[in-house]
Amino acid sequence: MKSQDSSNLRKSAQTELNVLRYIYESPAISRVELAPQSGLSTGAMTGIVTSLLNRGLIVEDSTIPSPSQGRRRVGLTLNPTLGYVVGVDLGTFNLRICVTDLSGRVLVVHQTPTAMERGRAEVLSRCFMLIRQKLDENNIPASLLRGIGIAFSGVMDTRNGVILSYPRPGQVEFWRNVPLRALVEEEFGVTCIVEDSVRSIATSEKSSGAGRNFSDFVYVDVGMGVGSAVFISNKLYRGANGNAGEFGHITIDEDGPLCCCGSHGCLEAFASGSVIIEKVRSALTRGVVSQILDMVNNDLDKISLEIIATAAERNDSLSYRTLIEAATHIGAASADLVNLLNPESIIYGGALFRAAPSLMLDHIKRLVRHRAMEKAANDVVLLLAETSGDAGARGMARLIGESILEQIFREKEPDRQSDSSSALR
Ligand SMILES: [Zn+2]
Repeated sequence: MKSQDSSNLRKSAQTELNVLRYIYESPAISRVELAPQSGLSTGAMTGIVTSLLNRGLIVEDSTIPSPSQGRRRVGLTLNPTLGYVVGVDLGTFNLRICVTDLSGRVLVVHQTPTAMERGRAEVLSRCFMLIRQKLDENNIPASLLRGIGIAFSGVMDTRNGVILSYPRPGQVEFWRNVPLRALVEEEFGVTCIVEDSVRSIATSEKSSGAGRNFSDFVYVDVGMGVGSAVFISNKLYRGANGNAGEFGHITIDEDGPLCCCGSHGCLEAFASGSVIIEKVRSALTRGVVSQILDMVNNDLDKISLEIIATAAERNDSLSYRTLIEAATHIGAASADLVNLLNPESIIYGGALFRAAPSLMLDHIKRLVRHRAMEKAANDVVLLLAETSGDAGARGMARLIGESILEQIFREKEPDRQSDSSSALR
């Protein structure tokens, strides 16, 4: 009797935690919207919401107008006074820090050059100093800091929070087997998670960008590398060991060029931003005629994706063909994604898509229509990303908030065991 009671109680706590997660994922959601999402009756939902309100886990916000009627409705949000989280994007070029409260309200986003060339120790100590500075400026005491999430673009063991390597020129020695999570937890005394930067950007696309209306989608990022993040049933899919989504390393040509991963003919070796720039540079060196030489005053180091995209718009044949070749490879690989996962959408972001958005997307759309199985190809929506450069830091703040939700829920849990034993007495 008693054990059955306690298992029922555990189940009800799990249901409450699930409702809390729905509210976290959709700030300002109304009770009416919440019931169908959670599969609970309106009555059961009302009871749970009242319990979460009484325990100070959520608050009501009646200032949100209803989208259809313009009438005021009551939205539910995580209680902002529960604490604050910090999202960090430790990027190759820029370091971005975002502080939010647990309701998701952004207090500050700060950006500064990462200055990777100064080495790991200096990069990290400056990063920690800036986190403290931003908390101070916003009058957030250390006791209210609940967690820190860090996005990085190297090879990582995300489960253990360790950076295994960072295959960038001049950086390899600095970032080999760095226990980043342990370093941050020791420094700040709060929970830390370390995540791939493409996944953190995709999380921003999911919460406030082009992915907000999709539950199953793939975010593809093409910058100097090629990466992706997969959402299945509204959840980031990490795979068995946390390594899912290595879209850049699917094989395009078994005998193709060597890739930085050690394999041959990966998509990244054909279509990354650095490969595109290198192809153009090498063609110019061989004497191919192009407007680009004039655009960079014969300085081949100045060639960028933006310059190649601008030249392509002006019908520069070398630039146009190089971009279309990359789009062809990305499009063919996207067709494979469509066949394999049948996503609602693929969302394309990163430096290449910011430089040449419509040229790339239009060509990829054609390829997917030609190469993917008909039904899935007709239904998949191919879109450009909507978030900006600070999406990585914002996404990390969301991810760390999500990962400490259960911890916060447990702290506010009523003493169920003693309740149930007193009822039994
Ligand atoms: Zn590879």
